[in-house]
Amino acid sequence: MTHETWVAVKAELMKRIGKNNFVTWIEPLTFSQLQDGTARFDVPTTFFGDWVNRNYGDHIQSHLRKHGAAVERLEFNVIAAPVMAAPARKAQAASGPKVIRARSAAEDETPGAPLDMRYTFDRFVVGKSNELAHAAARRVAEGGPVSFNPLFLYGGVGLGKTHLMHAIAHELQARQPELRVLYLSAEQFMYRFVQSLRDRSVMDFKSQFRSVDVLMVDDVQFIAGKDSTQEEFFHTFNALVDQNKQIVISADRAPSEIKDLEERIKSRLQCGLVVDIHPTDYELRLGVLQQKAEYYRAQYRGLEIADGVLEFLAHRITTNIRVLEGALTRLFAFASLVGRPISMELTQDCLSDILRASDRKVTIEEIQRRVAEHYNVRLSDIVGPKRLRTIARPRQIAMYLAKQMTPRSLPEIGRRFGGRDHTTIMHGIRRIEELMATDSQLSDDLQMLRRQLQG
Ligand code: ADP
Ligand code: MG
Repeated sequence: MTHETWVAVKAELMKRIGKNNFVTWIEPLTFSQLQDGTARFDVPTTFFGDWVNRNYGDHIQSHLRKHGAAVERLEFNVIAAPVMAAPARKAQAASGPKVIRARSAAEDETPGAPLDMRYTFDRFVVGKSNELAHAAARRVAEGGPVSFNPLFLYGGVGLGKTHLMHAIAHELQARQPELRVLYLSAEQFMYRFVQSLRDRSVMDFKSQFRSVDVLMVDDVQFIAGKDSTQEEFFHTFNALVDQNKQIVISADRAPSEIKDLEERIKSRLQCGLVVDIHPTDYELRLGVLQQKAEYYRAQYRGLEIADGVLEFLAHRITTNIRVLEGALTRLFAFASLVGRPISMELTQDCLSDILRASDRKVTIEEIQRRVAEHYNVRLSDIVGPKRLRTIARPRQIAMYLAKQMTPRSLPEIGRRFGGRDHTTIMHGIRRIEELMATDSQLSDDLQMLRRQLQG
């Protein structure tokens, strides 16, 4: 392989991953040699090499091969010269390696967080629980006229919010490379804002954020209670909406549920399309496992996985997709290490801690505590005799969840609710079931409580 090959590959990579990512991650690589199937590159830091390998390694290899280079692996060697500019180091120290920039961003370039190459639409498994979120994300990724603004995605951890946002960014960048797509977490937004206050460069900050075409802010619940950041976020948001620029926001709960978020922001966030990603169901979990297992099988050539293992995991690990993925990753790594096929037995050995944690049962006590917290009433009132509606309703909700989420019988539940009769419990549960059909606030509440309890 020659340096010319690398130049050609770079040009292709730029198209593939977008200019921003390219400038940050690929351009600083120096190709040194190809020997015995190993392509070697010089990089400024270990972190840099790891990041590139993990996020762009597959692409680099496949494009090199396309040009006839016999590459089987990549190697990144750290060279001493500090390529990193001062601002990048500051950013790294304050908010973790995710925002590291290999070189100082050009003046007019708005710094975003790097995108994970694996988080594409291709690799997103669609099921009932995320169908709508996926469809909405696809729509935004088409880049047509703005049809809802913002797109607000919410749901518990590990359910694919970040994945979908990155997928939108990848797709937009591929379709319209000139589009300025900015993705970052709310925490990074705050960090940059505070930094600009410190550097007296708020005007630059403002103009940077106001000049993007698509803004995506992940985990927006983070700015709740942070007044000046909220204020700035609000203005940025409005300025972009006024220019008809697409905004995508994610959070771990619905706008109305985010405590200490200003009312005007809540109502702004609700103006567009608000989509809930529900907890996973069995089919989705199995789908995700099957998909990931495909990748692993290719990676660990020849590793066999026994029938029923994936189904078993989909049944037993119900928390979230991140945990599911972690389990599979560990399973393959372990099996290849010990050189044994993935049997049911090996699975149980290797994942015993995860399986045990997933066994964790919700208790009636926990349910009562959560519900009391949520509705701002005393725990003692939940089990006590007061008949006030503001207390009786949360109490009924707790009863309903106790029946749904624990294996306890009605008399047992009655005992834990201050010695109530089982017919009272039944009545409470019926009442909630009736209300749920018409009261969407109530069903949202229930869903969130259930998620928190399972979390
Ligand atoms: P969140 O941002 O909601 O906490 P992430 O987007 O970080 O969740 O997802 C956690 C992990 O699970 C990621 O590795 C992601 O790729 C994976 N994941 C989540 N949902 C899906 C899905 N529907 N299909 C495939 N992988 C998924
Ligand atoms: Mg996330």
